[in-house]
Amino acid sequence: MNLILLGPPGAGKGTQAQYLVEDYAIPQISTGDMLRAAVKEGTPMGLKAKECMDSGALVPDDVVVGIVRERLQQGDCAKGFILDGFPRTVPQADALSETLQQLDKGIDAAIALTVDTEALVDRLAGRRTCPVCGATYHLKYDPPREEGICTKCGAKLVLRDDDKEETVRNRMQVYAQQTQPLLDYYAQAGVLVEVDGMRSIDEVRTAIKEALESQS
Ligand code: ADP
Ligand code: ADP
Ligand code: ZN
Repeated sequence: MNLILLGPPGAGKGTQAQYLVEDYAIPQISTGDMLRAAVKEGTPMGLKAKECMDSGALVPDDVVVGIVRERLQQGDCAKGFILDGFPRTVPQADALSETLQQLDKGIDAAIALTVDTEALVDRLAGRRTCPVCGATYHLKYDPPREEGICTKCGAKLVLRDDDKEETVRNRMQVYAQQTQPLLDYYAQAGVLVEVDGMRSIDEVRTAIKEALESQS
């Protein structure tokens, strides 16, 4: 099962990716998490990425394409993978399709979560992230068992710098301009599955499962 999760910032990609990992035992490949790890380690790539991420802009295509290409060749992707936050531009989608072709693989479904802008702003404002394991929570909609502490690994949760209101607005624009065209791209490829992301986390999880099962 080779999946892509599409949708604007705050749509629920990371949240649903974590469930897909459990339900299908395939790895989540989050370019956002990998870039944040590179920033934290202070690698040259991380230093380059940080400026873009802080302003809400995208990191250059060649950088993310390089990371994903390497990741897809690791053994744990043999049975499938969930791309979360990649591709985000048409050139990234083209590079992905080329890479998959070389690996003799394809995309089974590109799941697009649709959520209206007001809800996105509310979700990002209340999002809390684990800087250690990448798990995400929400103050109201998905609180951790113990306030401020990651239920999975016990680390202290943080508000991501780019989840502050001003950067959020930029990221929404970047999404509309650069990423939204991918909905048509994957519709034309015949793999687009649109899921109403306005429902509760559990309802969306069920809807995704049903959509994937009815497809195969
Ligand atoms: P993305 O990866 O698409 O940016 P996340 O999965 O991190 O989105 O979700 C953004 C925020 O919204 C998180 O705080 C998450 O807990 C919360 N969230 C995710 N899905 C839902 C939902 N269906 N209803 C309400 N809140 C949600
Ligand atoms: P969200 O889950 O809210 O959509 P991500 O964690 O996926 O956010 O991404 C955070 C930031 O990392 C983006 O604003 C962008 O700067 C960078 N980034 C992540 N994935 C990509 C990508 N595929 N291409 C370019 N930049 C990316
Ligand atoms: Zn954690």
